[in-house]
Amino acid sequence: MLVVKGLTSHYGRIQALHGVDIAVRPGQLVALVGANGAGKTTLLRAISGVQPASGGSIDFQQQDISRLVASRRVRAGISQVPEGRQVFAPMSVEDNLLLGAFTRSKGEIGPSLAAVHELFPILHEKRHLPAGTLSGGQQQMLAMARALMAKPKLLLLDEPSMGLAPLIVQEIFRLIQKLRDQGITILVVEQNARAALSIADQGYVMELGRIVMSGRGAELLKDDKIRQAYLGM
Ligand code: ATP
Repeated sequence: MLVVKGLTSHYGRIQALHGVDIAVRPGQLVALVGANGAGKTTLLRAISGVQPASGGSIDFQQQDISRLVASRRVRAGISQVPEGRQVFAPMSVEDNLLLGAFTRSKGEIGPSLAAVHELFPILHEKRHLPAGTLSGGQQQMLAMARALMAKPKLLLLDEPSMGLAPLIVQEIFRLIQKLRDQGITILVVEQNARAALSIADQGYVMELGRIVMSGRGAELLKDDKIRQAYLGM
């Protein structure tokens, strides 16, 4: 579904991605793990088109999308849930969801709202409240639901567990698995390598702007180097 080859990206003279290769198959849940500053966020943003790539290619469903503006990539079927959720705090929960549906026709919005309300009942309960009044976990759900309103084929999730209590993290990861079970292909970036790799079909490890290891999630969890570097064992 997604094939990234030789991707490079710069912030001015600083090179953040040094030729990244990854592939995501339809229906897979793929985890990208690595230390702070490894380039994980930059990679997700380059795929969704909010960060320019300076070289390499990004093919989505056999089409090179690397020159498309971000909104065209949303229309093609890629939605991103940004790091730190970025909900619009003064706006109602429902209006946040409607913003996520900017590519959809009027007739499609109602059924999509009903679908995300079924997945996240709390968002239905709190639909008239300002998004800023939600808890961190609820805001993560809102950010995910907002991305789902575009009806993506590929969902990019940046650090969904950031700043959340362990029980809430479990709940969020359960929901991510549920989305995969519904047929959505997912690429998730996580500092919480253990949680991400344990649900991932495929994992990639990133260091200093390069992919340094890849394999099945369960295999990477057993790897000694990964255990020492990312799991504190
Ligand atoms: P984190 O978990 O902290 O988000 P990350 O693996 O997602 O880390 P990136 O945020 O992609 O890493 O950062 C990759 C590199 O690019 C780092 O060296 C970082 O300092 C640099 N970088 C990121 N954003 C900018 C920016 N806006 N301007 C300059 N350099 C940046």
